[in-house]
Amino acid sequence: MDISVIIPLKNEEESLPELAAWIERVMNEHHYSYEIWMVDDGSTDDSWSVIQNLSKSNKNIKGIRFQRNYGKSAALNEGFRVAQGNVVITMDADLQDSPDEIPGLYKMIVVDGYDLVSGWKKKRYDPIMKTIPSKFFNWTTTKLSGIKLHDFNCGLKSYKKKVVKSIEVYGEMHRYIPVIAKWAGFRKIGEKVVEHRSRKYGVTKFGLERFINGFLDLASIMFVGKFGKRPMHFFGALGSLFFLVGFIIALYLAVMKIAYLQYKMTDRPLFFLALLIMIIGSQLFLTGFIAELVTRNAADRNSYLVEEVIDHKKPEEVRL
Ligand code: UDP
Ligand code: MG
Repeated sequence: MDISVIIPLKNEEESLPELAAWIERVMNEHHYSYEIWMVDDGSTDDSWSVIQNLSKSNKNIKGIRFQRNYGKSAALNEGFRVAQGNVVITMDADLQDSPDEIPGLYKMIVVDGYDLVSGWKKKRYDPIMKTIPSKFFNWTTTKLSGIKLHDFNCGLKSYKKKVVKSIEVYGEMHRYIPVIAKWAGFRKIGEKVVEHRSRKYGVTKFGLERFINGFLDLASIMFVGKFGKRPMHFFGALGSLFFLVGFIIALYLAVMKIAYLQYKMTDRPLFFLALLIMIIGSQLFLTGFIAELVTRNAADRNSYLVEEVIDHKKPEEVRL
């Protein structure tokens, strides 16, 4: 199968028939074999019965219905698990992303060899409340992750099958899929300017809390990606640094007291600061040990993504 399209959706009943028909048209024009996974993320409107009807008239349309609303990341993750196509394309259900972009995104994966291609809504049809913070968000993410993308959170993306089978998204981490993919070792990450349209039906499902959650998620992803398998290197280094600074201050106060001035240690405010810093330092250090114990118990502590193996056995014996 050439393409799996994954569409996370919540309360998008009006858009679905139009979207399905449009995708179908594009796929037929280009003679792609395809499937469409509509993942109903706990809709309270009639989205699910619309999906049921669509799937009756087109066998390429498949559906998953969550028992309740888990969030866009969970819906994508579920789609990633079931997708069969060699190229996986995600898009929003609200018709803001155009299915006409599918062939271009597909070609960048199969012809140009990208692992992941993210859409870039260069001309964006969203309220200014969204576009300005989003610029700041993209800038920060580029600076921290080293990935040069203009639009991390674009719903329209294409992936090599291997990428979606190797990554996991949860919480609200769909905004950082390129960062997660990079940490998993997929380096060829590209960008394609895509057409964006204003929302035709329904309302946006994300409010301003997206920015707070967004930055917290970025902090977790950066931390887990870098130190997930060696937390002591983070907590140990930071803890030792804190402790050392506190100790030097305390030592300085002690030397000054004995050598020159006869003050009480507790008369010096700096003394309390030194104590505080030393306590924080030791706590960070000990947190490092606990984190090591936790990661030691993680089921995937020794799972690495292998790209290729050279082994002098018959090809079918080589296990990747
Ligand atoms: N969505 C979802 N679960 C949620 C929230 C949103 O599956 O909890 C879907 C939504 O139906 C849409 C896509 O995620 O298909 C993007 O959401 P939305 O259009 O509201 O975001 P915006 O375009 O405003 O950033
Ligand atoms: Mg939208």
